[in-house]
Amino acid sequence: MAIILPIIIIILTTIAMEIISWAMHKYLFHGPLWFIHKTHHQERHGFFELNDVFSLFFGLIAVGLMWFDRETRNYPFWIGAGISVYGIIYFIFHDWFIHNRFKAFRLNNRYFSGIKRAHKIHHKSTQKNPSEEFGLLVASKKYFKNTK
Ligand SMILES: [Zn+2]
Ligand SMILES: [Zn+2]
Repeated sequence: MAIILPIIIIILTTIAMEIISWAMHKYLFHGPLWFIHKTHHQERHGFFELNDVFSLFFGLIAVGLMWFDRETRNYPFWIGAGISVYGIIYFIFHDWFIHNRFKAFRLNNRYFSGIKRAHKIHHKSTQKNPSEEFGLLVASKKYFKNTK
């Protein structure tokens, strides 16, 4: 496989993952799987929360795909790599930058401040419904206006 194809697959998978996780967040996590996801909308006791099983689930799919296709390194391998890339971005932005799960760090840039604000709005609700802003890397335009 030429080097360009894996890069394209990884980028497309990352974009697809944002769409998939937006839809899962909106229709499953704030739907039938709310009993798990609600642990992320409540005060956390200890380092882990039940909601982390979703990260574990995607992590297992990613590792599984890469393991399964480790010899030939065809589409499944690079899709697994793309899911991993999204997982790392998600972890850094969501768990670290937005929720300060580790030592706090700041990014004073219009885009990063915007996605942080949008996700904080999502967390304003501690209920299943109503809620808004289910994406991570993409948010409504209004959050990117006149940020300080
Ligand atoms: Zn939520
Ligand atoms: Zn969150």
